[in-house]
Amino acid sequence: MKDINKRIAALPEQRRAVLARLISKEAEGRNSVANADEVPARPADHVLQEAYDVVIMGGGLSGLTLAIQLRRALPQASVLIVNSTKYPAPEAAHKVGESSVEIGAHYFDTVLGFKEHLEDRQLRKMGLRFFSPYGDNRDIAARVELGPFENHILPIPSYQIDRGRFENMLAVHAGKEGAGFLDDCRVRDITLGEDGAPHLIEFTRGGETLHVKARWAIDATGRNALLRRKLGLSKQSDHNVNAAWLRVKLPINIDQFSDDREFLGRMLTGFRQYSTNHLMGRGYWVWLIRLASGSTSVGIVADPRIHPLENFNNVERFNDWLDQNEPLVGDLLRNNRSLVQDFLAIKRLAHTSEKVYSKNRWALIGDAALFTDPLYSPGSDFIGMGNTIVTELVRHDLAGGDLAEHVEYYDSLYLASSTTPPSASSRISIP
Ligand SMILES: Cc1cc2nc3c(=O)[nH]c(=O)nc-3n(C[C@H](O)[C@H](O)[C@H](O)COP(=O)(O)OP(=O)(O)OC[C@H]3O[C@@H](n4cnc5c(N)ncnc54)[C@H](O)[C@@H]3O)c2cc1C
Repeated sequence: MKDINKRIAALPEQRRAVLARLISKEAEGRNSVANADEVPARPADHVLQEAYDVVIMGGGLSGLTLAIQLRRALPQASVLIVNSTKYPAPEAAHKVGESSVEIGAHYFDTVLGFKEHLEDRQLRKMGLRFFSPYGDNRDIAARVELGPFENHILPIPSYQIDRGRFENMLAVHAGKEGAGFLDDCRVRDITLGEDGAPHLIEFTRGGETLHVKARWAIDATGRNALLRRKLGLSKQSDHNVNAAWLRVKLPINIDQFSDDREFLGRMLTGFRQYSTNHLMGRGYWVWLIRLASGSTSVGIVADPRIHPLENFNNVERFNDWLDQNEPLVGDLLRNNRSLVQDFLAIKRLAHTSEKVYSKNRWALIGDAALFTDPLYSPGSDFIGMGNTIVTELVRHDLAGGDLAEHVEYYDSLYLASSTTPPSASSRISIP
């Protein structure tokens, strides 16, 4: 790959321009296929059994991918997913967690084998890209830009993922792999069994209360963190940041923020718009993420000591805040307000847990386990790593192994790998 980049760099300018046009055309072609309307399918109906080897509470990104991974690794294991919302999910205006980086991308495209979906139905990403602040931020070309430039063939692919579209595909696929899937069902309680006795999970479907037994209970309920809360394991992170975001039915092309020749010339192919673009400022950053369904995800992450959440916690204030701090995005949004599809804000997004795996056959995955900070888009990395550990624990247990040592090792490994430098941010004083 290094070789290809070197060879591109060595081409005369005219030939590079021809190559750039060809690559752009190919990418636009691919992206217009990805933009084609999706007809989302519903997962197959499932007849509830009395007991399962594994019950996964929550069928979002982490729960669905774990179900698929478990069924592939342990085809003899019975797996049930119980999810509170109804599928299919809406495209674009569904969840954050749209930018993948290399570990998560590898988990999705190679470990789980969804390369075709990711290449054809999502957008190939042009890496992470950062713009440092300059003056009133009205001139993007004057900002220092960090990211892949014209030699842009990235050796390890990553993707911008429309979460609704991805989860719809995963839900159908989990059924095809043999996992039972119940949507529109809310888990209300769980009674953990001791000494090998099954756990008892209580959930509601419509007005009906149902129970199911499980050897393993997995909490994949996201920020609801049903089991983590029940066991009193929640730990507040000392990294205090807030976020708000929306999706706008508009493909935002950051190249169009300037006609500066040097700025445009740095990316011969115009691929800048496919990066996860971070607009950095004092005490905040703003993300711009293009989605295959034609929308753009726009989010603000900010330190409340400089930018209180109250300044951007609804669409009107979000736009006012952008006008002041990132006016190019603010103008664009104001001119396209009728295209805003959703809005959400969360306070103190970082959280963690005392423990994530137990020898008593339960585990926390995805957001139900922990989340640190979205700056480098690590959420899916942690899902990939956590799910792989849980698959190994279940495999070991079903084979009659003793879990104690494995659990202790993996628990400390997972928790240690998520202790990030940003946790020190609360100790940084603001000049
Ligand atoms: C501001 C922000 C930006 C982020 N950006 C990125 C990013 O760019 N890249 C990245 O990789 N990650 C990112 N993340 C993290 C990412 O959002 C999470 O890692 C990911 O969504 C977690 O998936 P999950 O399946 O654990 O939880 P969710 O996707 O929240 O799924 C939980 C599921 O559980 C169900 N559920 C909840 N309660 C119950 C119940 N009682 N019974 C049954 N079902 C229930 C819900 O219906 C839902 O389907 C970001 C997070 C934040 C806060």
